[in-house]
Amino acid sequence: MKIAILGGGISGVALARMLAADGHRVVVIEKAERAGGLCKSRNYGEFTFDEAGGHIVFSKDKRVLDWQLARCGGEAGTVRTVRNTKIRWHDRWVPYPFENGVGHLTKDAIVDCMAGYVEAYASRRAGAPCPPNFGDWIRWRMGDGFARHFMVPYNEKIWKCDLRTMASDWVAGRVPEAPIEDIVKSAIGIETEGYSHQSVFWFPKHGGFEAMVRGTVEGGGFDLHCGVAVTSVEKHGSSYRVNGESFDLVVNTVPLPQIEPAIAEIPADVRADIRALRPISLVNLMIGVKLDEPLPPISWAYLPFPEQGPTNRVTWFSNYSPYNAPAGHGSFLAEVTHRGELRPDAAWMRGVVAALGRAGILDPDRVVLSEWCNNEYAYIHQDLEFASRIGRVRRWFDASGYLTFGRFGRYEYHNSDQCVARAMEVHAHIRRVAASGTPESLVLR
Ligand SMILES: Cc1cc2nc3c(=O)[nH]c(=O)nc-3n(C[C@H](O)[C@H](O)[C@H](O)COP(=O)(O)OP(=O)(O)OC[C@H]3O[C@@H](n4cnc5c(N)ncnc54)[C@H](O)[C@@H]3O)c2cc1C
Repeated sequence: MKIAILGGGISGVALARMLAADGHRVVVIEKAERAGGLCKSRNYGEFTFDEAGGHIVFSKDKRVLDWQLARCGGEAGTVRTVRNTKIRWHDRWVPYPFENGVGHLTKDAIVDCMAGYVEAYASRRAGAPCPPNFGDWIRWRMGDGFARHFMVPYNEKIWKCDLRTMASDWVAGRVPEAPIEDIVKSAIGIETEGYSHQSVFWFPKHGGFEAMVRGTVEGGGFDLHCGVAVTSVEKHGSSYRVNGESFDLVVNTVPLPQIEPAIAEIPADVRADIRALRPISLVNLMIGVKLDEPLPPISWAYLPFPEQGPTNRVTWFSNYSPYNAPAGHGSFLAEVTHRGELRPDAAWMRGVVAALGRAGILDPDRVVLSEWCNNEYAYIHQDLEFASRIGRVRRWFDASGYLTFGRFGRYEYHNSDQCVARAMEVHAHIRRVAASGTPESLVLR
């Protein structure tokens, strides 16, 4: 078959490589000057930075992890790190997840957190139903103390909205749930690990996270057309035309609101649903510093409080690979989410760096480089209508013959490993259809 893949992020190029290995003629069409999407990296002199905040190679699925590591040059091409993540809680470093680090707070805050937790625990045991909105969910799950001392300020900072306007159903599996024994142990000073499934991660030695994309493209056996936006997609019987060229099959991985204008036959109600799928954007600050001694071995830290500046998460990026910064230097990534209104300038960047200085993360006088990069599609705004809206959109695509997947191609809030897992599922689907010769709907659970 001749297959068009719209969008050359990791979803698009991973699927292209799998399909090309089966002998299909595959063409990836990518709007940007090179493939990679959110997985792209860039260089400034001898510094390498990821464009969309700190990315790590990790998967719970061994088949996917092996696939990703192979694209990065295997163990020899990557650095393996034992995860060391923190919350900067006022003047303290608290281990992440917060419930497992509660013993590191002030005594007053420990009492707040534990009293609230016991109350919430008892009320859940007595049958209090899981609230549909995220704001109430936080108090239902963790109680008032954990809510006030971390969960609410941190989540308001990243999501930039009243948390009661967000749904709670996406949280399962994302916000780690510590056993009550671990929380009690932590409160009395016994260390507990928490969130152990991601205790180690990998990162490409050279070239940033984008090395994984390059390792997918190189030798991938497919055509990659960069600098070409998909502007028109039409279905004619059982074949398709993309920007005027004929194909037997089209797979979309472009963010749905960006591809919607190009697909003529989307019905008006589905079009309205797609237009209501708003992204949350991310400005990523890339900071280089001069060092007299190595950075502390921290992977990343969450910054919940306004006095720490607008950054919600900071990555000690040169700890991921020593080749991310030149000798005698280190580097950081500072992530700032927004809803389309942020216009960074030099004064804004100085303010962010100064706040990181006040938070004890870096010394602003040692900064030798600061640049920024905006990512329009970074997070999904999961409002209370999101699940029903995206359900309708996915149903239309799955029944239409167009296949669509990807972080924003299906609005699944997936990391790159889950995108690769989805590519494997879509690949298996196309194989089945090609073998049987009969069309069937795509089923992704
Ligand atoms: C802050 C942050 C941290 C993350 N951390 C991690 C992590 O640690 N580990 C991890 O594995 N994942 C992480 N992720 C997730 C990861 O970045 C995504 O899952 C992955 O990059 C999504 O790939 P994609 O191909 O689905 O989408 P995208 O990367 O968004 O690709 C879509 C592509 O479509 C192209 N496009 C748009 N319009 C058009 C058009 N009209 N025509 C043609 N092309 C078009 C875009 O240019 C883009 O290249 C993180 C994401 C964020 C935002």
